[in-house]
Amino acid sequence: MIKVSVRFYEELNDYLPENMRKKDVELDLSDGSKVKDILNKFSIPSQEVHLVLINGKNSLLETKLNSGDRVSIYPIFETIDISPIKIINAVIDTHVHLEEIENLDQVLLDAKQSGVIGLVAVGSDYTSNRKIIELSKEIKTLKIYLALGIHPTDINLDELEITMKFIEQNISGIVAIGEIGLDYWYGSVKKSQSERETQHKIFELQLVLAKKYSKPVIIHSRGAWQECYEMVKNKNIEKAVFHWYSGPIDVLSRIIHSGYFISVTPVLEYSKEHKLAAEQTPLENILIETDSPVKYKTVTGETYIAEPKDVIRTLKHLSAIKKIPFDELVQVTKENAVNLFNI
Ligand SMILES: [Zn+2]
Repeated sequence: MIKVSVRFYEELNDYLPENMRKKDVELDLSDGSKVKDILNKFSIPSQEVHLVLINGKNSLLETKLNSGDRVSIYPIFETIDISPIKIINAVIDTHVHLEEIENLDQVLLDAKQSGVIGLVAVGSDYTSNRKIIELSKEIKTLKIYLALGIHPTDINLDELEITMKFIEQNISGIVAIGEIGLDYWYGSVKKSQSERETQHKIFELQLVLAKKYSKPVIIHSRGAWQECYEMVKNKNIEKAVFHWYSGPIDVLSRIIHSGYFISVTPVLEYSKEHKLAAEQTPLENILIETDSPVKYKTVTGETYIAEPKDVIRTLKHLSAIKKIPFDELVQVTKENAVNLFNI
């Protein structure tokens, strides 16, 4: 016999006896049971089921169950109501430029009040790497996890050596190397060949460092998606997140196949490419973030400067795209961040 804990989404209540509704149900099943055996037990037709998660991971009706598994079963939704946000203190914004945020104390307090418990602060150059370490020592509102790196559009060759040294000296206190990568489109102007070569060289140096210390990498890959993927893969980097992924789907498939992550931002609201990437990526390969303080627009054309609290917007859009309830999404994306950054 095996014992599993099952949670049926409310709209499946009609299939359940009264005393099993609206709670986690402990079930005893015979060895080798599959998800579909749970459906059979309650005569739930498989076409009523939209999604099954086992321990937060997308699963199939044919997936075999193990004792202790936590199974969530969701119906086909006509529409999903994402408006009332239940505040859950489990949200981590995985990509923030902390040193660029104005009114930081208030911004962090607002994030906390929106259910955010922590954030990953990424560095871009020598000054910003130093700054985020200093800030992280002072901040008590949220848990600050640090990533240090040289951003492809913030390269200063005069500071290269001192920055690389600084990152290595602080390696034990950081959760990742980032934000690093290649940007061939910045400012809508194609980068010249020599600029590309410089970016390439500095990205490579940082990948070597990540490999040496077994650190995950946070990748900026705009306009250079395939090349970024290949460099990360060729260096045998085990853990990577392709931040704000909006690139081609064939590269995305290779990213997923390699067990890497993509991260999604509030731009899910209006970017076709970004939305498509979110649709095509299994939930267990997705992180959520804001890239604060980037400026976003809404579908109605208004603009706003992102703050870590806007990671709730990311979750709301992702919830609608994936047709997964908000609270489940909070839990799974948090587990993903914990797994990737080992936090
Ligand atoms: Zn960024």
